[in-house]
Amino acid sequence: MAAPGSSVLCLFDVDGTLTAPRQKITAEMADFLQKLRKKVRVGVVGGSDFDKVQEQLGDDGVLLLSSEMRC
Ligand SMILES: [Mg+2]
Repeated sequence: MAAPGSSVLCLFDVDGTLTAPRQKITAEMADFLQKLRKKVRVGVVGGSDFDKVQEQLGDDGVLLLSSEMRC
């Protein structure tokens, strides 16, 4: 979870940013996100549906704000 009281929200695109297009997240990137989540709130946005994004990023509690938003 984000640091208590953190008002910083970092949003990331999925395909081409957190992952290669349509691929699963790497262990290195997943580790980075887990560490970042200890400091700020983290969310993702992308054009894929929820199931696809969850498949790519895993079910690790990353806040999925919207799979309908496009960046
Ligand atoms: Mg993209």
